[in-house]
Amino acid sequence: MPGCTAPPARCQAVHLDRRWVDGAGVSADELALGCYDHHPMIDRQHWRGRIIDGQVVWGRPAGAPVGSTGPP
Ligand SMILES: [Zn+2]
Repeated sequence: MPGCTAPPARCQAVHLDRRWVDGAGVSADELALGCYDHHPMIDRQHWRGRIIDGQVVWGRPAGAPVGSTGPP
């Protein structure tokens, strides 16, 4: 998530576009790292991620992208 400073050790795999219960797979291009605080919010609020120029860009389903997780 944009602005998140959690180290990878405090993260787990998060589906980018489809949730596990909706049939998402587990290939690397379907997953990103999400911290234990943000992962529940991503699922609960139905955020979706896309990989653009090698960076994960998150946004709500009907909204505009809100930022990337990559370096500035
Ligand atoms: Zn986070």
